[in-house]
Amino acid sequence: MKVTDHLAQADGKTLFSFEVLPPKKGEDIHTLFSNIEPLMEFKPPFIDVTYHREEYVYRQHPNGLLEKKTVRRRPGTVGICAAIKNRFDVDTVPHLICGGFTKEETENALIDLHFLGIDSVLALRGDPIKSDGVFKPEPDGHAYACDLIGQLADLNKGEYLDEAQDDTWATDFCIGTAGYPEKHFEAPNSGADIRYLKHKVDRGADYIVTQMFFDNEQFFDYERRCREAGITVPIIPGLKPLTTKAQLTMLPRTFFLNLPEALVEAVSQCRDNEAARAVGIEWCLNQSRELMAHGVPCLHYYSMGKAESIRKVAKELF
Ligand code: FAD
Repeated sequence: MKVTDHLAQADGKTLFSFEVLPPKKGEDIHTLFSNIEPLMEFKPPFIDVTYHREEYVYRQHPNGLLEKKTVRRRPGTVGICAAIKNRFDVDTVPHLICGGFTKEETENALIDLHFLGIDSVLALRGDPIKSDGVFKPEPDGHAYACDLIGQLADLNKGEYLDEAQDDTWATDFCIGTAGYPEKHFEAPNSGADIRYLKHKVDRGADYIVTQMFFDNEQFFDYERRCREAGITVPIIPGLKPLTTKAQLTMLPRTFFLNLPEALVEAVSQCRDNEAARAVGIEWCLNQSRELMAHGVPCLHYYSMGKAESIRKVAKELF
């Protein structure tokens, strides 16, 4: 069942969902299953699986020359979605990105998903490869998520890249898109970011999932500005319990977000990561309670490979 159908069926109740990462190449899928298992008692209607594109690494040869190699550390998003769906009888939402894909490869990936009965997709641009600095689309690929969303919407009308339109070929994907309460790092300003978000919705996005944030006021303000801009689709807040002291610098560096002063102070005073984790859980719990009271349709948690803190939060709420 599609994400938007789950939200509609919830009838005003806030749902619980979360995101997992594919295992690193060579790792066993059972480690991932054992991370998901403890969260299944909270009945997530869907689980997101991230997509990780290739990176460049340089290997030194004995003669001193460097060889540039392409490495994918976490392949397998589509297969993992199918495996989770099969194992836990839950809907899965693969993330699909523009980076590294031609339009034809995107179409083929979507045909695979259609055959697997996966009917929701989170459509993203993807980040630039670190050594590239700026995002570079494939020569015949999409430059922005809105164009990937356009391709998905075309497929939903039965319009394939090089085939005549025919309704019987139509897919029926529910299309998710990303939103940034604290602005996407490349957007010139928040207003422009919301205009681009509106464009993604106009091209066919059915719902929005936000980047993680730690100050609910940022979300409330963002949601208000989205509604004022005419965006009417559901907006699902993304949350993450902070789990280590190092995340005080890692999260802002990686996700371009601000951590509230009170949280920074409380975590800084912790003696060790165990104490920091307790602060992170309490903070996330308070955020979740306030968002639920506000009436958000779903709370979406970023696991970043660790489920324990999310389980503690969910146990209090769902
Ligand atoms: P876009 O919507 O294309 O926006 C990119 C930038 O361009 C923004 O600054 C925007 O304001 C601007 N822009 C948008 N449209 C236009 C336009 N038409 N003209 C000019 N400028 C425009 N990354 C991964 O690699 N794998 C994942 O699994 C993944 N999952 C994510 C899940 C969530 C919920 C979120 C919030 C992010 C995720 N990301 C993931 C990160 C995401 O790929 C990056 O943040 C990326 O830099 C932007 O993706 P986007 O889809 O928001 O891009």
